[in-house]
Amino acid sequence: MRAVSAASIASLLNRLPADTVTIEPDALSEGAHDRWTLDLLRLARGDLPDAPDAIASPSSTDEVATVLRWASEAGTPVVPRGGGSGVCGAARAGPGSIVLNLSRMNRVLDVDEVSRVVRVEAGIRGDALEAALGPHGLTVGHYPQSIELSTVGGWIAAASAGQASAGFGAIEDRLLGLTAVTAGGEVLRLRAVPRSAMGPDLRRLLVGSEGAFAVVTEATLACAMAPRELAWDAFGFGSFDVCLDGLRRVMQAEPHALVVRGYDQADATLAFGRMGHPGGPVAIFGFDATSAGVTERRAAAADALGEGAHALGSAYGEHWWAHRNDTVRTYHRVMGEERMLGSGVVVDTIEVAALWRDVPALYANVRTALLAGAEAVGCHLSHPYPSGASLYFTFLVRGADDRAVEDVYRTAWATAARACLAAGGTLSHHHGVGLLKAPFLDAELGATGASLLRRMKAAVDPAGILNPGKLGDERRGPR
Ligand SMILES: Cc1cc2nc3c(=O)[nH]c(=O)nc-3n(C[C@H](O)[C@H](O)[C@H](O)COP(=O)(O)OP(=O)(O)OC[C@H]3O[C@@H](n4cnc5c(N)ncnc54)[C@H](O)[C@@H]3O)c2cc1C
Repeated sequence: MRAVSAASIASLLNRLPADTVTIEPDALSEGAHDRWTLDLLRLARGDLPDAPDAIASPSSTDEVATVLRWASEAGTPVVPRGGGSGVCGAARAGPGSIVLNLSRMNRVLDVDEVSRVVRVEAGIRGDALEAALGPHGLTVGHYPQSIELSTVGGWIAAASAGQASAGFGAIEDRLLGLTAVTAGGEVLRLRAVPRSAMGPDLRRLLVGSEGAFAVVTEATLACAMAPRELAWDAFGFGSFDVCLDGLRRVMQAEPHALVVRGYDQADATLAFGRMGHPGGPVAIFGFDATSAGVTERRAAAADALGEGAHALGSAYGEHWWAHRNDTVRTYHRVMGEERMLGSGVVVDTIEVAALWRDVPALYANVRTALLAGAEAVGCHLSHPYPSGASLYFTFLVRGADDRAVEDVYRTAWATAARACLAAGGTLSHHHGVGLLKAPFLDAELGATGASLLRRMKAAVDPAGILNPGKLGDERRGPR
């Protein structure tokens, strides 16, 4: 891909306030990648592909439109970037492209206590959003493990789900309205309403759109009263299949827990070993302790689990809540500069989902596929629904060194992807698509589905400038 010419960069600089565009090499290197394991591995090896040519950090929707008009005229690819916490290479930007960094657009614009909604700029991080809502007694209830790293725009573009999705839903359930800028620089304002039947929901069109359809600059999100206290229950099981079936019955009994999670033997040891867990699968439930009928709902959940479950008390859930984001640091230590487990070791995650009928086969097939090449595999049920659930696998592969392990990693991923699709699952529950999963779009959506997606992309972005290559579109993105 050709580099952006100096004259073209000068033209961009001239259209924007001073300090909006940087070509400083360290910033460009930092803006070249997200937290996809393969890119972290390449960083560790010192051979990450070349960086983008500039980073624009606009402060307003108008400035975003200015950047996109310039990019359309110049035919220059633009990679939108929120917190850069994505794990699939969706924010990867290479030479010949520029990064559109939304992090300066981080203001809370309005808190409407009557409707319990908040309007924000899309570059606000999750922790800052929750801190701003605290004094109002409100929460958006969207708590991804990466809450301190990720932004509202990234949540929308990657179709994110938070750890309390059982109670608050995923990002599409919180999104009521938005402002976005199209590839041509037009501003799309979709008013905030609780629901609308004015045609297909254009808000939803942007959920999971990978920054390839438009750049989100503002969003209005539904809030709820923040729980003042959480009440926790935990249960142990003889097998993960019994745990999964129990969680299905719990979700279908609709006890309205905020947090529902189930861990297989390996993940239970990782999550609860430090507190003396003797072994075996574990499920935890977190309830709003002061909500109406909570005692009855906790009892109903325990009943629904059936005889295969034994109560473990409240400590497991309290421990999980206190340590729920610790693995962010662990992952950084393993895949970052420290390479805690040494060279040649790669850790990654795969979050898949299926209907309950298919969940046992999904678990067995993906786990078996991963174990064919991985040294360790753990799984937990991370996001449950009445109709099905997502399973979140963590796996560790080892090669002779940081170069050899790349093939082992790619093979593990491809084998697991085939196993997931054969079991009727989806390859992405909440991490989006990115360079990692784009090669599997045709297999999951079918030829017609994938073609429709490409035609939609071509219609909204005829010049193909918005994050090319991330939704399986024809224009080649970075590798
Ligand atoms: C340790 C760790 C834990 C994680 N835990 C979770 C979790 O619990 N739940 C979960 O859902 N995810 C999780 N993630 C993944 C990641 O945080 C999410 O994918 C998140 O939604 C990405 O947000 P971001 O702002 O960092 O986006 P980025 O990584 O910057 O970008 C992601 C995608 O969104 C696009 N994009 C970003 N901003 C905009 C915008 N304003 N308009 C249009 N497109 C845009 C980018 O082009 C890219 O395609 C985790 C990641 C890590 C590293």
